Amino acid sequence: MLNLVLFGPPGAGKGTQSQKLIDKYQLVHLSTGDILRAEIAAGTELGLEAKKLMDQGVLVPDEVVIGMISNKLDANVDAKGFIFDGFPRTVAQAEALDQLLTSKNTAISGMIALEVENEELKKRLLLRGKDSGRADDQNPEIIQKRIDEYNNKTAPVANYYKGQDKFTGVYGIGVIEEIFNNICTVVDSY
Ligand code: AMP
Repeated sequence: MLNLVLFGPPGAGKGTQSQKLIDKYQLVHLSTGDILRAEIAAGTELGLEAKKLMDQGVLVPDEVVIGMISNKLDANVDAKGFIFDGFPRTVAQAEALDQLLTSKNTAISGMIALEVENEELKKRLLLRGKDSGRADDQNPEIIQKRIDEYNNKTAPVANYYKGQDKFTGVYGIGVIEEIFNNICTVVDSY
């Protein structure tokens, strides 16, 4: 199985590149942000609780997202592989993901980190906020909070995969197609 973690701060281009990777490698896309937004749209209790945190730009609890990923893995037993987008976002999530995959006799193939400078991230998120209507993309303070959460809680996840020799950084500014080709070179080396 090909199991990819696409990593990077908010606005790095994970969603855009995930879509292209899914098409090329026929992977199942698991974006915890998308799953949470679907819960909000459906008006579930989980969605209502998560929304309060997402609107503030802080992470939702580990057990909530780990449970969601576990359900999605169980619902896709025939998948050729998965692309994890926006997950794991804490070291505890990364450890839980390893356990879940081990129990299914598979493992993460590698983490690809999209590297984009802070100022560019803020510009991209504000631009996306105008089109997507996402409340958390429209307020500069919330955007800064999400970048802070990333630096404090999520950036250490890269070290977790470096420790397993599964980390590759890819520069995330430039032409989408060129960035995609650089990602594919990494994926094809797995
Ligand atoms: P995203 O769409 O990945 O930018 O996520 C939007 C928001 O959903 C984040 O700011 C968090 O509040 C929440 N979220 C998404 N994925 C996770 C995760 N793996 N762990 C904790 N919170 C998450």
